[in-house]
Amino acid sequence: MVIRTEEDRSVARCRWAPLLPRQLYKNQKESHNVDISWNSYPVNEKRAFSRRHVEQLNQKLKSGEYRLEHVDCINCGSSSHKLLFSNDRYGIKWRTVVCKRCGLVYSNPRFDSPSNQRFYNTDEYRQLYNADDLKDVSPRFAERATKSTDGYNKLGYFEMVRDLLPQIDTVLDFGAGAGSKLLPFIDAGKKCVGYDFSPAMVAAGKEQGIDMVQGGEEAVVGTYDLLMLNHTLEHLLDPIEQLRRLRKHLADDGHLLIEVPGFVDKVPSLQNAHTYYFSPRTLESILGVAGFRLREMREISQNGFILATFTKGDSISSAVDDDEYRRIAAIVRRSRLRIARQLVANRLPTPLRNLAKEVMRAGRRK
Ligand SMILES: [Zn+2]
Repeated sequence: MVIRTEEDRSVARCRWAPLLPRQLYKNQKESHNVDISWNSYPVNEKRAFSRRHVEQLNQKLKSGEYRLEHVDCINCGSSSHKLLFSNDRYGIKWRTVVCKRCGLVYSNPRFDSPSNQRFYNTDEYRQLYNADDLKDVSPRFAERATKSTDGYNKLGYFEMVRDLLPQIDTVLDFGAGAGSKLLPFIDAGKKCVGYDFSPAMVAAGKEQGIDMVQGGEEAVVGTYDLLMLNHTLEHLLDPIEQLRRLRKHLADDGHLLIEVPGFVDKVPSLQNAHTYYFSPRTLESILGVAGFRLREMREISQNGFILATFTKGDSISSAVDDDEYRRIAAIVRRSRLRIARQLVANRLPTPLRNLAKEVMRAGRRK
């Protein structure tokens, strides 16, 4: 490669730049303002609708309008970590690291508390991730809660607590969105309420006749037989503290149901709104610190999500497993090739990209 410009130089600095045609690198940089490097993460083309919001957010991060803070690991307290990725699937400049002591994967730096609140309260989060959610939820409301995709059973969370239904009268969904996950419980005759930060989602849920409240844990009143955090825990800045507070709203013989995108056998889809990526091990540890005892855990093979139920327990000290860091590092190493293939495939002209997709799909079927 002949180095002529500053851009060429930055391409040359990247470890596997010699393998990349110059145009591929240029396209990725121009369209997403994301450098290709060892720590790049592929930008999802299907999410192009949110490009404008991504640019705005990157700008706000750069100008300091959104403030970031560096943090130590919440599981073990260690400050020693390793950078895994430097952007998310939307092209937001956002660093994902792994704790070298306990293997917890987290965003670092991440929003400080006022910025985090603003991100959710102003619906900026929804604009970035689910612009469709904000248009009109009513026609597909029930469908989105129940219709399974790619073999992933969206009702898995409900089935996991089916045997507990006779003991459950009241359900609280924390981080409920528009509350559609409450529908099976409402159908089963349970008294349900959903809490969410998004004014638009709360209004949409109310329109569907669901009891919805806008706000976080400070707004929660009453005690419940089932507490549900469905793809919520990974968004919280301080999940241990939040869980401790929510614990007070759980009946003594009640159950906590959690679903999170896991870090089970491959790198999950990265997004800046995810402050944490839990593995079965780190999830159980953090819940233990917050005063919950594991009842059952399931790893969903289609997408690596983790489903788990807990009961109230004594708060225990965090479990630090020396092997967890090595295990997570190995998952990232194994996934690098897939990630690199995706990065390149994303930048190919359409016919070639379709061909590449076919090849990848055939590879997965093997
Ligand atoms: Zn740690």
